[in-house]
Amino acid sequence: MEANNIMCYQTDKYLTFCSRLKHLLTVVYVSCKQFPTINPADGTIIAQISEGDKADVDKAVAAASQAFSRGSKWRNMDASARGKLMIFYLIARDLEYIATLETLDNGKAYSNAIFDIECSIDTIRYYAGWCDKIFGDTIPADGNLVSFTRKEPVGVVGQIIPWNYPFLMLAWKWGPALATGCTIVLKPAEQTPLTALYAAALAKEAGFPPGVVNVITGYGPTAGAAIAEHSGIQKVAFTGSTEVGRLIMTASSKSNLKRVSLELGGKSPLIIFDDVDVKEAAEIAYNAIFSNHGQNCCAGSRTFVHAKIYDQFVTFAKQLALETKVGDPFDFETQQGPQIDQEMFAKVLGLIKSAKEEGAVLETGGERQGNVGYFIKPTVFSNVTDNMRIAKEEIFGPVQCILKFEAMDEVIERANNTNYGLAAGVLSKDIDKALVFAQAVQAGSVWINCYDAVTPQTPFGGFKQSGIGRELGAEGLKEYLETKTVSIKVSMRN
Ligand code: NAP
Ligand code: MG
Repeated sequence: MEANNIMCYQTDKYLTFCSRLKHLLTVVYVSCKQFPTINPADGTIIAQISEGDKADVDKAVAAASQAFSRGSKWRNMDASARGKLMIFYLIARDLEYIATLETLDNGKAYSNAIFDIECSIDTIRYYAGWCDKIFGDTIPADGNLVSFTRKEPVGVVGQIIPWNYPFLMLAWKWGPALATGCTIVLKPAEQTPLTALYAAALAKEAGFPPGVVNVITGYGPTAGAAIAEHSGIQKVAFTGSTEVGRLIMTASSKSNLKRVSLELGGKSPLIIFDDVDVKEAAEIAYNAIFSNHGQNCCAGSRTFVHAKIYDQFVTFAKQLALETKVGDPFDFETQQGPQIDQEMFAKVLGLIKSAKEEGAVLETGGERQGNVGYFIKPTVFSNVTDNMRIAKEEIFGPVQCILKFEAMDEVIERANNTNYGLAAGVLSKDIDKALVFAQAVQAGSVWINCYDAVTPQTPFGGFKQSGIGRELGAEGLKEYLETKTVSIKVSMRN
């Protein structure tokens, strides 16, 4: 939990991978319970992890509150010194080790894990640069007043993250929280605790004062709920399902009205007009849905293709899916590893079954691969219609749904006909056409002639039920700041 005091128990089995976590094994959580973390490539137990619950959250919040208290080392530190502590250089030093832990725990292809850790370094480095550039305004207020604003850290923040990008989501959350001078209590997903524990060790090595960074492993309904309900926490940042997002908001309203930012699911449309290079478009659409095994909140999970190029597009899409190398995530050739766990594996296969029953045409895939681990063959459905479950529900798996459209107004209406609004893409050589769509679509990010162009500098977040607030960029800082107005009465204006 507290960076000085991180707790994790493990078996000897994976010491080659986990030996550097060994020095974290010294303390037992208040709860004294443990849970296994599983390797989704073969279903084996990697390690037993301490299971934190409410009592452990109380301890972590007390440490974080102490670290945030007036006169503390952290509060008295120069803003520029905060930037020097931020751990991007240690992550860069240990990039391959962290990527190895991530692949072991999450099952993502090793090349994807390396990419995620590189993006994490970029994100934390970006926010390290912000530390001494956060300031308020002087304001020409009515009356004989000198008025100015101070931007102050919101305080102790709770951060609850998912399993699909375990380390990257930690970076998205720690970057702005530490840049603004908040203190942190973070809970990783039960499926993927290892890299968060390692990040806490790096925070300790970097020299953050005790209590600034706390990591609690445990389950959502216990440790996660205790964070959401805690009155010592001033803000909670959550990434995960819409269903749990609702619980987080309810917990806030029932406790201390803590600020809430939510990064939730999506059913993002990718619109492909008939003036594109069809093969290139199929490749963009392939990456939009199949990257990270489809376990991506902004996955392009509704591929709308213009009727004129539909058949040709489906042929290319099928070929790309068939060529995907699925297997051992540590094999450098592998593009797709297993789904995260038995539950998600069963959910994805259930949605594939529903599509077959509802009359979508299965072009390729549609079943499990092998009989060990949670592997699913890359799956392409054509002739998908808006009312099918696979066109409406977030699948979170390697399943491409190809729908047909004919006209701009029609496709705008259909793209927006969802409660989600996280992202959208549009491919066309006609920039006017692309911009008409970009303006009309209800989504927090719109990518033209590309997809997943997420960068540390640009805000990311959802319209509608895809979330509240923004992460990344300067906007991401606002979520962690309070504005204080100071007004001074003077005898004369000039
Ligand atoms: P989830 O249940 O929303 O989990 C996300 C995080 O919330 C995890 O750390 C989880 O802890 C925690 N949590 C669960 N219940 C909680 C509660 N009552 N109070 C506080 N925290 C709680 O998501 P999931 O079950 O992993 O995945 C389900 C669906 O969520 C997926 O099918 C997908 O649609 C969506 N999802 C979206 C994203 C995204 O990036 N937007 C990421 C992952 C999943 P534990 O894991 O320890 O229980
Ligand atoms: Mg795991």
